[in-house]
Amino acid sequence: MGKTPLDGKAIRDILYIEKTAFREVNLDQAKGVVNSIALESNLRMQILCNVRPSGGSSMEKKFLVDAELGKLAKWLRIMGYDAHCQPFYNSEHIRAFAKQGRVLLTRNAQRLLQWEGAVFLRPDRLKEQLQQLKQEGLIAACRSKWFSRCVRCNRPLLEAEPEAVTENVPEYVFLKNPSGILFCPSCNRFFWPGSHRQRMITQLETWGF
Ligand SMILES: [Zn+2]
Repeated sequence: MGKTPLDGKAIRDILYIEKTAFREVNLDQAKGVVNSIALESNLRMQILCNVRPSGGSSMEKKFLVDAELGKLAKWLRIMGYDAHCQPFYNSEHIRAFAKQGRVLLTRNAQRLLQWEGAVFLRPDRLKEQLQQLKQEGLIAACRSKWFSRCVRCNRPLLEAEPEAVTENVPEYVFLKNPSGILFCPSCNRFFWPGSHRQRMITQLETWGF
């Protein structure tokens, strides 16, 4: 097996998964390598690896979400993030998604090793997973982007044409929202502000967004 590129945080995550007690991870930011890890047993692990590339605002981030984190993918889309998630990934998929510059979100140790710059989500609860991503600067609360993407297909929503609206949306809805109706070009579903959306806004605010 070749050398696996990892950053300091990924190594902390691996030690966490392996339940290895450690005192510190010595990361050389300038050279982009982890110099060593001081273990509790007074042994030092020598590791050479890459630092996760940084840059780009958190709102521009695109994600590849592991299949077991479907709920997280849904809420990232609600917040307007491009969060691709599918039931199974083979190595060809992984290569194609890597070219798109996606950040892999996973709770799977094997994937963490396979994917450069992957983010290991420690919490198993959605609220804490979102808060971890926020703390790591990967997502931010940008309200203008909320509800701009299809929750089911991950496609950006488009403004619906008036004719399509009258054919596909209940009359009371378009009378109340003449210009706020969007549709998904993939699944052809229509979206508008309403009580369901308000509940999601309240939920995001409760979570600190
Ligand atoms: Zn859709």
